[in-house]
Amino acid sequence: MSTEALVVFDGVIKKFGQFLAVERVDFEIRKGEFLAIMGSSGCGKTTTLRMLAGLEAPTEGEIRLAGKRINDLPTWQRDTPMVWQSLALFPFLTVRENVEFSLRMRKIEKAERQRRVDEWLERMQITEFADRNVAHLSGGQRQRVALARSLVTEPEILLLDEPLSALDAHLKVRMQTVLSNLQRELGITFVYVTHSQSEAFSMADRVVIMSRGRIEQIGNPQEIYRAPRTKFVAEFLGSSNIFSGQVTTAGNGMIRIATPAGEFDAVSGAAKALGKGDKATFVVSDDRIQLSNQRPETGNALRASVVGEEFVGATAVVHLENPAGGLELKAQKSHEELEHLDLSPGAQVWLSWRPEAAHILPGE
Ligand code: ATP
Repeated sequence: MSTEALVVFDGVIKKFGQFLAVERVDFEIRKGEFLAIMGSSGCGKTTTLRMLAGLEAPTEGEIRLAGKRINDLPTWQRDTPMVWQSLALFPFLTVRENVEFSLRMRKIEKAERQRRVDEWLERMQITEFADRNVAHLSGGQRQRVALARSLVTEPEILLLDEPLSALDAHLKVRMQTVLSNLQRELGITFVYVTHSQSEAFSMADRVVIMSRGRIEQIGNPQEIYRAPRTKFVAEFLGSSNIFSGQVTTAGNGMIRIATPAGEFDAVSGAAKALGKGDKATFVVSDDRIQLSNQRPETGNALRASVVGEEFVGATAVVHLENPAGGLELKAQKSHEELEHLDLSPGAQVWLSWRPEAAHILPGE
């Protein structure tokens, strides 16, 4: 995968009447990458993808594909096929006819058409259904037909809008593997819209997180997971340990933040940009939290009551609350580490963490 930009969204805004669906997005899609766009319902993911497909025109800004402005290029002149959740296969045609369709539209001659269709039927392991009507296929088989139909023209970029959301959990995981392998093998750029974090994080090279028509963060899954930029991203990822407050002392990258639940120290690169009186929000990941019966002598500490315990294989996640701070908290520990603690609902325990474990959200 290169870092060369295949697509550029340059100050793109999309309004429907007075409604601002995409507020202003600037980002690049790199050649050969698997880019996932995720966010909650209505955040503008599909609209962004539809603009790239030519199904919507930007209200302002420019979209460039391989350096050329494509704002006004009709869909059929773009090399950006799209695979949808609802698939839109032609119901009265066979598998073969569906896959062949776009080659016919391109007036590719018969022998070449057949060669390419056979190749893609084979590749997607649907050769045995070639002459079956698509209405008589399972969900997973139909997905493969839809992929074959889009990829048979060998596009440079493939747009996928929640393509797996209609499948059951088992098939979803299988198709995720099919998609990832296919993308890596072909080197085609995939732009994949989803609201499933596990899907985005397991398949994508980079993830775009959107909220209310804006991009909150772009990065590889590890970066986003370890260093969320904003509270929205942290909450979206399900981080429970989020603290907001005001800086009371600052210096040398170490700051103290007063929150409704108490005062806590934080050390991080982002702390250097903060001064006394600034607002600050930080997160502490659940595996960095210690639990104890007594208040630890050093480090940040907070008393909370146990809400419940959730078993996750070799570890357990303890859910806690601190009503004074309005906080829901979470600590992930091995069963051994929890043996000596009373974790019945309502029991009081101390949470603690080192100042280095606090990640300050730079976008807040
Ligand atoms: P979902 O996950 O629910 O599909 P999304 O992030 O893909 O959501 P979009 O489909 O991009 O969201 O829609 C963004 C916003 O724009 C929504 O509030 C939607 O109601 C609105 N919207 C989309 N298309 C139109 C349209 N043609 N006319 C008016 N409003 C629209």
